Amino acid sequence: MTTEELKSINIDVENLGTSTGNTWFAKGDIIKSYSPTNGKLIASVKSTTRNEYDQVLAEAAKAKLLWRDIPSPKRGEIVRQLGDKLRELKPTLGKLVSYEMGKSYQEGMGEVQEMIDICDFAVGLSRQLYGNTIHSERPGHRMYDQYHPLGVIGIITAFNFPVAVWAWNAALALVCGNVIVWKPSEKTPICAVACQQIIADILKKNNLPEGISSLVTGDAEVGKWIAEDERITLVSATGSTRMGKEVAKTVAGRLGKSLLELGGNNAIIVTPSADLKMTVIGAVFGAVGTAGQRCTSTRRLIIHESIYDKVKNALVDAYKQIKIGDPLDTNHHMGPLIDTDAVHMYLTALEEIKKQGGEILVPGEVLTGAGYESGCYVTPVIAEVENHYDIVQHETFAPILYLIKYTGEVDNAIQLQNAVRQGLSSAIMTSNLRESEIFLSQNGSDCGIANVNIGTSGAEIGGAFGGEKETGGGRESGSDAWKAYMRRQTNTINYTTSLPLAQGIKFDL
Ligand code: NAD
Repeated sequence: MTTEELKSINIDVENLGTSTGNTWFAKGDIIKSYSPTNGKLIASVKSTTRNEYDQVLAEAAKAKLLWRDIPSPKRGEIVRQLGDKLRELKPTLGKLVSYEMGKSYQEGMGEVQEMIDICDFAVGLSRQLYGNTIHSERPGHRMYDQYHPLGVIGIITAFNFPVAVWAWNAALALVCGNVIVWKPSEKTPICAVACQQIIADILKKNNLPEGISSLVTGDAEVGKWIAEDERITLVSATGSTRMGKEVAKTVAGRLGKSLLELGGNNAIIVTPSADLKMTVIGAVFGAVGTAGQRCTSTRRLIIHESIYDKVKNALVDAYKQIKIGDPLDTNHHMGPLIDTDAVHMYLTALEEIKKQGGEILVPGEVLTGAGYESGCYVTPVIAEVENHYDIVQHETFAPILYLIKYTGEVDNAIQLQNAVRQGLSSAIMTSNLRESEIFLSQNGSDCGIANVNIGTSGAEIGGAFGGEKETGGGRESGSDAWKAYMRRQTNTINYTTSLPLAQGIKFDL
């Protein structure tokens, strides 16, 4: 990416980092962000010091009093302006996402489109924060419930969706009347600086307080401050299950609220009536898209024995056509892993597959030579395994696809699909209505997302996004996920001159 392109999204100052609105603090240690595409330095940010963090929280506390008094449709207008600005900046911001995270340019642009979509959704939602009216059991009484803002929302995000996950949280939290403090992944801080610049400009143009949207940068330590902080009502944390367990414990310890979006171990069930072409496209995109670094990446294919060899051979053929290289070059299907630590985890997983009895069908290697200087490019792997292997039970954040055979009825496949600790995304490829309905029934998939005849990755923002079990149980984005960002209040109004008690209890003086 050129300096001019970075400047066009206001990344023209070294050592940005902590910010409330347009005010930047810069005292902490330097975090250098290198592109996994070519190993070059993109820019540096300064990590947030404890003192700066407390200043940010003080500004947020002030801003929340003003922001919550602004009518929700007017808050929606600010989010509309954010969506408009993102439309304008989509190609450049999409490119930065691709350059800093390593996903393809198409996927980088798709991520910005998701931000735009959630802004549109939130603008409409700003006029629809509905409660219910309820019939009272007492005469002359009226009951209803209504939703109020929570206050300050802490947003902790992962490297693999460096801008969209912030937008899912930010757009909803803001229309719901909350102020936000974001701690992005230390692996993708430049994308976060770009987003903060965009929203800060909008707040400034509208003469709104800076503390409505803040950025704090740094590693897990800064995330821990957020988890511990009683001034933060809701902690929305996206990342590994390991991180989620720590955050959940800390937030629960102070009886705060948490919204957790954690690891997945997603499977596609391939039944005898599956369309082979659709299955191959869905599985390959699901497994190699974003180099296997999506929470919804397809990790397991559970294939009926009657078509096992056919599907296996088609996949092995398809993998021969995958072009790996600079993700900004649209001829490439797959870019690099995020860093060399991720490469190390990939190599360790390959060793474990062999040790535990798996057979590697499409071997993995680290690519070297021209175009691969960053050391982060690997080849995608297919391995035959059994579902109970320890390595299969864990999420390896890399392009490794496991093939697992099932026999008999679809229930056996569902049992295998559910026999992992994670519960994010799942899919079935079938032309059989009965199988599809069983998969979607209460006896079917135990995941937060269950698809028929599409893969496990690539969710739309209109649905609630999230998963069960070790995926954390949170829901973000569409449907009624907004309710997590508000507190519900039940109101009972007596418009009579007597005081009847509920349940017919008598209490006369
Ligand atoms: P990670 O858990 O290493 O880090 C995520 C964020 O948490 C970072 O900002 C990090 O600094 C912070 N953090 C780490 N430990 C912390 C702690 N103890 N307290 C507070 N904050 C802490 O995850 P990652 O490697 O950046 O991302 C990959 C993981 O994220 C995968 O497991 C993936 O499945 C998951 N993910 C889930 C979803 C979802 O919606 N379910 C979406 C994207 C990514």
